[in-house]
This record gives sequence, C-alpha cells and structure tokens, in this order.
Amino acid sequence: MEKSEIQISKGLYEYMLSVSLREHDALRELREVTAKDSSAIMQIPPEQGQFMALLVKILNAKKTLEIGTYTGYSTLSVALAMPDNSNTITCDINSEWTNIGKKYWKQAGVENKIDLRIGPALDTLDGLINDGHENTFDFSFIDADKINYDGYYEKSLKLLCPGGLMAIDNVFLFGSVVDPELLDEDLKIRISDTDILAMRTLNEKIKKDERIDLTMLPVADGLTLVRKK
Ligand code: SAH
Ligand code: CA
Repeated sequence: MEKSEIQISKGLYEYMLSVSLREHDALRELREVTAKDSSAIMQIPPEQGQFMALLVKILNAKKTLEIGTYTGYSTLSVALAMPDNSNTITCDINSEWTNIGKKYWKQAGVENKIDLRIGPALDTLDGLINDGHENTFDFSFIDADKINYDGYYEKSLKLLCPGGLMAIDNVFLFGSVVDPELLDEDLKIRISDTDILAMRTLNEKIKKDERIDLTMLPVADGLTLVRKK
C-alpha cells in the first residue's frame, strides 16, 4: 500500500480511516492478499480507491480507462462505483499480477464491467484511438510506468470526452520530485533519474496546458486531477 502519511500523522491517518472508510469485502480481501506481494507498495491505498469511486459517481461515468492494473484494487474500486452496463478498460503487461485480482472482481459481481487488455498500454491506447473511441471516455486513471506518462497523458486526453476527468497517480514520486537523492528508509526504493525527469517535465507541462483545468492533491503519493475542456 502506498505511503499515505505524507502530511498527517499515523494517528490522524488511522482516525481518518476509522470515521470514513467503507471498503467492500472483496476490496478488503484483495488488499490483504496483495499486501503479501513484494510489490504491494504499488497499490493505491483504500481511501484513494474510495475517493476515485466518488469521482466516478459524481461524473456518472459509464466508460472509464485505467493504465496500470497490478492486482486490480483500483480497477475494482472504480468498477464497483459504476452503474450496470458500464465498462472499464484496464491495461497492464503483467498477467501474473492481474490474475490475482480476477477472483475478487468476480466475487464482487463486477467482472462483466471490466475489460482487461494485456499488452503495452501505449499500443492498447493507440488501438482505441484508431477504433474510433476518441472523445468517449468519462474518466481515465494513469498509474503505469512513469517514463511513458506523457504518452498516456496525451492519448488519454484524446480518448476523454469534453468534461471528462483524468487522475494521474504518483506525481510526487515519494518525494523525489523535489529531492532526487531521497531514499526512503521505509520504502527501500530509489526512484531512477529518468523517472524523476519524466514526472517533473509532465507536472510542469500540465500546469501550462490550456486544454485542461487541473488540481494537484496531496492524496497518497500525489494525485493530479485534470479536466478536459
Ligand atoms: N493501479 C494499480 C497499481 C498499478 S502499478 C493499483 O492501484 O493497484 C503499475 C502497473 O503498471 C504494474 O502492474 C505494471 O505491470 C504496469 N505496467 C508497467 N509498464 C507497463 C506498460 N508499458 N504497459 C502496461 N502496463 C504497464
Ligand atoms: Ca500508483
């Protein structure tokens, strides 16, 4: 689970969850199973899943996109918030991870809403653009390899409908966007210089982008919301 105590104390974080988190049983079970995986830090924390679910409900989203499935926690959070006969396309290259989530998508009864596309996400997005899906998606969540974020941003922007919303995850890169030497003692990771440069460049580009409205939130590891004009 991604570190969520960027600004608040552990006690306050736990309090926040105790008075606000409503986690579906399938989500909780999937989170517990994912926690055993050595890459579990990649999964969004539960309050972020609930936040994205709320956004999807406010948007009345019926067609959504996700780039970076992992074990499918964010996928399930969004799918549970969407009405029947809606569709979420989720992209990943690693079917070993995505297979973990399928059982819980089924348990929650939303597997029919989830369209998993295995393959490099840039290719999947190009396929959607070529197949006439431009200007049709209500919501897009970007959460795969950071070096390709700019490509995911541009292609998502094409695929979103006017007024559609994009959520871009990990825009703080665990703090390394301001301190590249940062090596988090808890996380035991060092973000690569190419990832840091890619994220900084995209963050600066989005601020100036006249095609969109934006807000950057200190949710989990930094979440930028972008609304297509
Ligand atoms: N949204 C997930 C976490 C995604 S982690 C959650 O909250 O649980 C990032 C994912 O991006 C990994 O599963 C990884 O396999 C995938 N990924 C990395 N490079 C990719 C690429 N080029 N195309 C598609 N997926 C990719
Ligand atoms: Ca993430």
